[in-house]
Parts: sequence; C-alpha cells; structure tokens
Amino acid sequence: MTAAAIDNSMQGQAAIVLGAGISGLAAARLLYRAGAKVTLADDYKSAYEIAAALNIDAVETIGKGGDVSARADVLILSPGISADHPLVRQFRQEGTPILSEIALAASFTEAPILAVTGSNGKSTVATLLNRMMAAGGYRSFLGGNIGVPFSDTLLEERTIDPAKPVHVVEVSSFQAEHLGDFSPTAAIFLNLSPDHLNRYADMQAYGAAKLHLQDNLKEGGWIIYNHEDEFFRTALEDHPRAVPFGLDPGKRGRLAVRKGHVVMGRKKLAPLEELSLPGPHNLSNMLAAATAAALMGVDHGSITQVMRTFQGLAHRLELLATINGIHYYNDSKATNTASTRVALASFAGNIVLILGGSSKGSDFSELRDALVEKVRYLVTYGEVGLTVADQFQGLVPLHYEPQFQAAVNKACDVSRPGDIVLLSPACASYDQFDDFAQRGDAFRMMVSAIEHEQTHA
Ligand code: ADP
Repeated sequence: MTAAAIDNSMQGQAAIVLGAGISGLAAARLLYRAGAKVTLADDYKSAYEIAAALNIDAVETIGKGGDVSARADVLILSPGISADHPLVRQFRQEGTPILSEIALAASFTEAPILAVTGSNGKSTVATLLNRMMAAGGYRSFLGGNIGVPFSDTLLEERTIDPAKPVHVVEVSSFQAEHLGDFSPTAAIFLNLSPDHLNRYADMQAYGAAKLHLQDNLKEGGWIIYNHEDEFFRTALEDHPRAVPFGLDPGKRGRLAVRKGHVVMGRKKLAPLEELSLPGPHNLSNMLAAATAAALMGVDHGSITQVMRTFQGLAHRLELLATINGIHYYNDSKATNTASTRVALASFAGNIVLILGGSSKGSDFSELRDALVEKVRYLVTYGEVGLTVADQFQGLVPLHYEPQFQAAVNKACDVSRPGDIVLLSPACASYDQFDDFAQRGDAFRMMVSAIEHEQTHA
C-alpha cells in the first residue's frame, strides 16, 4: 500500500474493529474509506448505540451479547482491549493479523511519525513537540491517546496532502502492542511510574509493553530516552540510535542545563526562569520535546520560542484563579502518585491538597514525605478517601468527605491568603465522573463560583 492510496485500497478485505470508543469509531471510518467490509463490535454498548455513533449504514455493528464469530482478514484493536479477549485469542490461534488502531493508521502514511510514550507527561510533551515541529516549518498533526485518534489525524493529512507532513502520536502502553507498520522516526520514552498496575502483572511487564516501540523504530530513526529514568536508561542506553535527554545527559545528549540556562551545544537557548511552564518535571518535558525537534532539524529559534510561550494544557497544574491571595490549581489529570508528587514539588509549601477518587492499586506511602513537607491541610474524598485518610492520620491535618464537591468546599473553607488549593488527586476519577476532564471542569466551575461571589460581594 502506498501512502497516496486510501480510497478502495482494501477493497475485498474484511475487517473487524473491536471496541467502539473514539479510536474504534475512527478506525471503522478509515477502513470504510479504504473500501473494506467493516464490522464494529463492542461488548458493552448496544448495536444501536454503536450504529448511531458511527452513522455509516454499510458498517455492520455488533453490540453487547451479539455474536462476533465472523471471519475477517484483520482484527483492529481499540486501546484497552485485553489480550485475553476471546476474539483476540481466536485470531492469534488462527494466525490472522491483529493490529492496534495506531498501526492501522500508520499503514496509510509515509510521513515521519514521532511517538511519545511514558507514564506521565505524554500529552504535555506531544503538544510541545507538535508546536515545535509546526514552528520549524512542518505541517504537524497531533493525535493518538491525546483525544483525537491517529486514524482521524491521518485522514486529515491524506486529505490536505501537505508538503512537509509529520505526525506526533501519543502512545499509551495499551497501544504499544500489535504495532504492525507503526514505525516511528523518533520514539520518545519519558518515564515509568507504577501506573496501571491493575492491568499489568508488575513494573517489568508494564515497562516492557512500552518498550515494544523500540523494536519498530524506522531505519535511521532515534530512540530518545530520559537519562534520569532508571528503567528506560538501563533498557535503552546501549541502543545504537539512542539519544538521552535530561539536565545533564552526557555527551550523546543534544541539550543540557548549564549555569541556569537550557543549552544546545554551546548555544544558550533560554534562562530557566523564562521557561513558560512551572516545575522541574516540565523542564524535563521541554528537554524531551526539544531533543526530538532538534533531531528532526528544527532550528534553535523555533524551539526556544515554544519553550518560552507554551501555556500548558488544561487539567495539568493549571492555574485557574487567584482569589484573595489564594491560588487555585487544577491538576485533575494527576491520576497517579508520581504526578501528584511532581505537583507538590512545584511549590514551596502552604498547599491545601484535594486527593482521592477511584483506586488504581497505588501505594500512597510514596507521597508521605512530600505531604509532610509541603501540605498544610489534606482533604481526601471518594472511593480511596477513607483509606488514605487513615494512612496519613496524625501526620498532617486532614479531613475526609465522600463527595467531591463537599471535599472542594472543605478545602476552600480551610484555605487562607498565601495558600495553594491544589486538586491533584493521584487517583482516577471514575467513581464520581466520566473522566479526569469532567472532574477538572467541576473544580473549575466551583472556583469560578467563588470568584463570582467575591467580585459581587
Ligand atoms: P499523560 O498524557 O502521560 O497523562 P500529561 O501531560 O497529561 O501526561 O500530564 C499528566 C499529569 O502528570 C499532570 O498532572 C501533569 O502535571 C503530570 N506530569 C506532567 N509531566 C510529568 C513528568 N515529566 N513527570 C511526572 N508527572 C508529570
């Protein structure tokens, strides 16, 4: 298949897409455009619901309780489908190709793919890199796990057919399996923290899932890894195409931090205090993106401009408002202890922390030192709230509320000028919300209400 051909290039082939979330729907659209006979199946939604979301009559939809025994030439997996799913096992036994949604999309483009993976910071780094590539003259498309499926950005690329296309793709560990033709020109490995341990047997298995990406590297491509992350450094430093990033990544690194400046070789890019995002973790994120952009030929000026101006993403340590000297930060995307730890490390102290939600099997004792040092008051909530409150009882002043709204009210009540009210929950949101964004938006609305009350008081 050449990059130019999507339309009808799969005529006569049958494909089953498993999972009808946004990635599955996008894969079905792409396959339909390619002329394949498509079946879209989901174990939880009804056939009617799937058909309404897709709105393509020619695609067969099979919902909860339906029988997906049909034969096909390829099985496409949405992220999150287990390797133990009966259909996956059946296809594996038959030796019929199984592809992830990102692998399907990749098979339709010859544009370079820059893949970003790791436990935390993927969306931030992918967005930074996308901006740097665009500033450097590429037509850069941002997709994958970030909310717009790669199949959709791929279709956009093939429709526009620009001169210098590049795809920045955020890859979750769930998508780093069944990679097929997904061959990145740069594979960026950020960090590994004990996230998703309820799905993987242990850290090694979780890390190994992400490492699949290196096996697929395009010829002449680069592995870009975090020099400060022990797992990735150990696994990747001997790779002949590996380039480390970090404050002091050694001779093979492209950027470093010296005398308070980000430097590239002898060139000073920017003083640290002029970088636009707070916290040491964001410095690391910028170094990761800048390393990839530099390897892709983006000039110093474009990289520096993005480092100075990028305002960050919503729900990631996002300053919502300062009201009566109290700063309100929304870090709802912090769904594991590692990201809450970096949030706490980004401030000097006086934090009123809102923590809780649904359990991912995390070990909260990792937060103990940072809590004692930085948190003036802890409010816990939701499914894990009581357990966490029990665990830290006596260490910091704290309070448990079952409901999120009541927890936020409590945090606001106990805060005083100079404090930072920080929603950095260290847990998933599913006990009370559809996702982290809905939780963050609920917090945003509550803070807006306080602001409104103050200005109209
Ligand atoms: P991901 O896409 O991997 O979930 P995000 O960029 O959306 O990453 O950030 C998720 C959470 O992790 C946010 O709370 C953010 O502040 C925090 N975070 C961002 N970069 C890092 C990093 N390098 N290390 C640890 N946590 C980080």
